[in-house]
Amino acid sequence: MKVTFPHMGNQYVATKVLLEELGVDIVIPPQCSNDTLDIGTKHSPESICLPLKVNIGNYIESIRQGADTIVITGSCGPCRFGYYSILQKEILKSMGHQLDFILLDPPQGDYDKFFKSVTKLANTKNPYSIIKALAKATKALYGVDEIDDAAFYKRPRERVMGSTDQLYDSFHKEVRKVKGYRAVMDLVKETKRKINSIEEDPERDVVKIGLIGEIYTIIEPFVNLDIEKKLGALGVEINKSLKISRWLTEHLYLQPLKLSSEKEIWQAAKPYLGSMIGGHARETVGYAVKYAKEGYDGLIQVYPFTCMPEIVAQSILPSVEKDYNIPYLCLIVDEMTGEAGLNTRIEAFVDLLRRRKELKHNEKLLSGY
Ligand code: SF4
Repeated sequence: MKVTFPHMGNQYVATKVLLEELGVDIVIPPQCSNDTLDIGTKHSPESICLPLKVNIGNYIESIRQGADTIVITGSCGPCRFGYYSILQKEILKSMGHQLDFILLDPPQGDYDKFFKSVTKLANTKNPYSIIKALAKATKALYGVDEIDDAAFYKRPRERVMGSTDQLYDSFHKEVRKVKGYRAVMDLVKETKRKINSIEEDPERDVVKIGLIGEIYTIIEPFVNLDIEKKLGALGVEINKSLKISRWLTEHLYLQPLKLSSEKEIWQAAKPYLGSMIGGHARETVGYAVKYAKEGYDGLIQVYPFTCMPEIVAQSILPSVEKDYNIPYLCLIVDEMTGEAGLNTRIEAFVDLLRRRKELKHNEKLLSGY
């Protein structure tokens, strides 16, 4: 059995750790690229959301490297992610690929079913070994997300432009080559240390933006056209509303116990959106309010064309923009998105935020006299 999985930002590091610790033979799909998207677009329904198209491309690229089993997380709730696994299986079947699909649905109280799915994958039935591997994967995921956080902070402040990206890219190249939890964690620790010690330019005027929107688009750099690097180079520090490590904690550990770390966010969203409508629309609105209250300079929402929950959030965000006096930009991406156009919009938005910040600063100075 050779197992593969779809890409979703840093998730591949945790899945690699989990499966390697369980003694499973894996194929990590090549980094998402235009080829991945071309393959996926060719074989997927035209109007389906972008993540599914990229997933199909990931599978085909892994099948070419010998993968015969696919592991995917499931979802429930009113959004197309809920039937991704069924649709993906059908698409691959129609292409002549008969693969085993192992669906790791979030437990939602039913840990038994969850463990059965993991045992189907693992070379062990020992629950202790499985729990240990899961804990290591979770730790690795938090470690890689911490590298992201360090990079978000450093990029807009680095004295030598590009230093952070160099270390960041090198980590993602090297982590594919090392094997096992210990080696991954050593690399994580070393990369964090190096990024944190990059020399800063105290003169840089840093603008702060809250990045909100659909989880896959926020997390997968290929799909959002490396927005975090683009913004970092423009002197913007970002904070993402969703992180894969938080998603895992929420679905694997908290929700089965009827707990959530997002209650405060749902509360913030409540005046605009009182219930869960699928995807992360409620979090998009809630985090928009949170960032505004915390004094961020602006908000950018990113989502894939035809994403239903985010379309609803988009219709609400102008009200948040008005109520909290915070500029908001919406970017919708699909396989036709032109990078030059996107860059222009981002640059113009950052210019606007910087001008606004300057004006506010000058007004404050004047009112002090
Ligand atoms: S949240 Fe949006 S993009 Fe993601 S699966 Fe659901 S509909 Fe598609």
